[in-house]
Amino acid sequence: MRTKIIAGNWKMNKTPAEAVALAQALVAEIGSVSGVERVIVPPFVALAGVAPVLAGSGIGLGAQNLHWADSGAYTGEVSAPMLKGLCQYVVIGHSERRQYFGETDESVNKKTRAALTHGLTPIVCVGETLAQYEAGETGAVVSGQVKAAFAEIPAADALKTVIAYEPIWAIGTGRAATPEGANAVIADHIRAVIAGLYGADVAAALRIQYGGSVTAANAAELLAQPDIDGALVGGASLKAADFGVIVRAAA
Ligand code: PEP
Repeated sequence: MRTKIIAGNWKMNKTPAEAVALAQALVAEIGSVSGVERVIVPPFVALAGVAPVLAGSGIGLGAQNLHWADSGAYTGEVSAPMLKGLCQYVVIGHSERRQYFGETDESVNKKTRAALTHGLTPIVCVGETLAQYEAGETGAVVSGQVKAAFAEIPAADALKTVIAYEPIWAIGTGRAATPEGANAVIADHIRAVIAGLYGADVAAALRIQYGGSVTAANAAELLAQPDIDGALVGGASLKAADFGVIVRAAA
């Protein structure tokens, strides 16, 4: 039985003070919900302020990115050792980073390995573009991204990761994938690939989220699918009441 995990990616929203206020509202909204792992992912500069708000609440904290090196001449970057102690999760390979900031399959793999080396829980994002979706390339694209992300990662470490299937055409568009469509991609092109790499037991245990226009209105239907183990939520995670509905739909 896989415990569902709902993560809220705040993207580049909220000042540190606004982030603390939203975190306080979320503690009140979802702090007492049991049976589902809850994570919020504010911008880097809000992590130190939000961490004490979440202490003891059962809500986890994550970062939106990291650099694979531990330290060095990488102006503007943040490393795994800097995050460790501040938060437990880190989103890696979000499509916005792939699209706007030169993230590649290779850098996603290096970042995933760095996160695991330092005991962070990577949430590894994969997903196809609209053109790839329309060309029927979803399976090939997504399975290729999964294989690349997990290169040289042993099974014991793979088990510590979470994968998020996020079709790019569904992110921030209001056009979510259908529950059956998302489930099929996750089952046939992600979980099956993990089974090929690591065997059936790892595939059965590893959690795979869906992300892309998840809302309070469509969450229950998506989360009822057998292979959807949670959601990576963008826009709706900025509203405590909406995020609360999504979290409770997973519980
Ligand atoms: C995301 O930020 O990963 C995301 C899925 O955004 P949204 O829920 O707004 O589509």
